[in-house]
Amino acid sequence: MLLAASVTANADMPENAQANPLLAPWTGPYGGVPPFDKAKVDYLKPALEAGMAQNLAEVDRIANDPAAPTFENTIAAMERAGRTLDRVGTVYGIYSSTLNDDAVQAVEREMAPKLAAFSDQITQNSKLFERIAKVYDARETSGLTAEQKRLAWLYYTNFVRAGAKLDGDAKKRLSEINQKLAGLYTQFSQNVLKDENDGVIFIDSEADLAGLPQAVRDGMAQGAEARGQKGKWAISNTRSSVEPFLVYADNRALREKAWRMFIMRGDNGGPTDNNSTITQILQLRAERARLLGYPTHAHWRVSDNTMARTPERAMELMEAVWPPAVARVHEEVADMQKIADAEKAGIKIEPWDYRYYAEKVRKSKYDLDETEVTPYMQLENLREGMFYMAKELFGFNFKPVTPGKVPVYHPDVRVWEVNDPQGNLVGLWYFDPYARKGKRSGAWMNAYRTQERFDGDIRTIVSNNSNFVKGKPGEPVLISWEDATTLFHEFGHALHGLSSNVNYPSVAGTSVARDYVEFPSQLLEHWLSTPEILNRYALHYQTGKPIPKEIVAKIEAAEKFNEGFKTVEYLSSALIDMKLHLAGNTTIDPDKFERETLTALDMPSEIVMRHRTPQFNHVFSGDSYSAGYYSYLWADTITADAWEAFTEAGGPWDKDVGRRLKLLLSQGNTVDPADAYRAFRGRDPGIAALMRKRGFPVPQAPATAK
Ligand SMILES: [Zn+2]
Repeated sequence: MLLAASVTANADMPENAQANPLLAPWTGPYGGVPPFDKAKVDYLKPALEAGMAQNLAEVDRIANDPAAPTFENTIAAMERAGRTLDRVGTVYGIYSSTLNDDAVQAVEREMAPKLAAFSDQITQNSKLFERIAKVYDARETSGLTAEQKRLAWLYYTNFVRAGAKLDGDAKKRLSEINQKLAGLYTQFSQNVLKDENDGVIFIDSEADLAGLPQAVRDGMAQGAEARGQKGKWAISNTRSSVEPFLVYADNRALREKAWRMFIMRGDNGGPTDNNSTITQILQLRAERARLLGYPTHAHWRVSDNTMARTPERAMELMEAVWPPAVARVHEEVADMQKIADAEKAGIKIEPWDYRYYAEKVRKSKYDLDETEVTPYMQLENLREGMFYMAKELFGFNFKPVTPGKVPVYHPDVRVWEVNDPQGNLVGLWYFDPYARKGKRSGAWMNAYRTQERFDGDIRTIVSNNSNFVKGKPGEPVLISWEDATTLFHEFGHALHGLSSNVNYPSVAGTSVARDYVEFPSQLLEHWLSTPEILNRYALHYQTGKPIPKEIVAKIEAAEKFNEGFKTVEYLSSALIDMKLHLAGNTTIDPDKFERETLTALDMPSEIVMRHRTPQFNHVFSGDSYSAGYYSYLWADTITADAWEAFTEAGGPWDKDVGRRLKLLLSQGNTVDPADAYRAFRGRDPGIAALMRKRGFPVPQAPATAK
């Protein structure tokens, strides 16, 4: 299979390779499940090394096959290879993202460069590349299916993009760069994680909690207790802890303190400071792009397997949305300033005031108080609501797996089996909802195993991970409306994976273009606010009554509220990302670049980037979202357009549009995304629906996201 991170043949094969349970094929029910009951950190390194060695041997056999290259003995053979490493890599990824401690970090630091070198060893295997190129060249005349042609194109393109056509010296330099980058990415994300783990503000006096809802106070008390400070309250240095504090806390000085702690992650001048790491990453990326024949890293990243195809088209979309978003921010700030003035607060709105006063504006303009909504947002009920959506739209039935039947890596993790209407297994869904030390912040989906069918019917295993604050034992976990939206978002990724209906694993599920992959997840967020979900599942945790229609009407009226803030907060990060990677061969001081670029953009002084450069994990903890943070906006352009496909027809539950959506999601990367979307919608998406969705003026001559 095409591995994002693949390996070095290591001479010293681990002695305990035979005894290492991570190397064995997965056993148990559902076609085998990850062996979390037997996994240990100590097994990771030897298992990765053995997996890499095995994969290299497989690749060597394919490259040296005496038979003439065919799709079957080359591309399909590559899809069959690397299975052990794939399984080990899955467990390694779970340890990295959800069980990260000093021992895991030591493995990461050692293995990241080795995995990068391994990957290069495969893409730089010239005999293998010659065979792939021959299969690719003959793709129109060798009787391949459309999916096989697409897969041949994907292999060929990925190899060329990874330097397969370079001469020996250039290949060697490329590999050096990749290994150095891998080490720097690990360092970057470990620095951010360390600042997130270590940063904390303890509050001793209950008076300083004024304004905070009980659920937030409870979470903070739990947080303090977990850090050995029972009786106090803790603001941890994570988004899920800091943001509610910024929304509700009346104590302005504490808001500022929490805000500063959070926005300075990776930027504190000590051993966890990321500035010089970023400078090195940008230099190496620029050099690599030139080596590969691209003007900049942005051009390398955005060409080929994306929908935008060029950084210029991505910039065009961002620049079309930026001015109306900034104009909206000025209106929002004026509304907030009015409230502050009426309160005789004697302040000018600063970034640590934005969320606090926005909440007050929301209350006054829409009479909507987030604390009125939260009691109806029970995590477990909303999860049932997601299952209802999955059943109605896609015909998926979720059934809990009996505890103990499938091993989990933490007691908080639960597993469901997913079946189609005929009762056939579709896959498994793992759910890891709560924040804990060593788990990275935010929310995400990943596939432990992708669907495939070319060598037997393999069912997918997907997982959703989030960082909800686990409240008191026995009490329901109440989440914000925004968190509920995120829950539906990540579940959208999971449904994309579960819908997969392809033959080859490299093109299955969510393995699609980066600027397309967020479209299904963003689209499925919309179902949260449908009456069918809210009336059945948004039930008050004490009375059991559904959320009143008046509150829902207010939520709908307030839907476009604060869109200036949200768009500018995101888009400033996306623009900085693209501009950093278009800068090419210059030595960049990240703080200075960020400051000067934001000034040139007329960034509103009341907002800070959603991810400042020194903590921008999307962009600097790996390559995948680098020059790619624009993808969320690109995908949202498609999302808004696709949602209108439903609203123009019979509404969110329209069976016919739902069927076409499921077909679209089932295709994975077997079809060019622009073609797949055109087949769903009958035309290309335009920007108009996006502007309507955000409440911005619709431009006369719309830029299109083709
Ligand atoms: Zn997403």
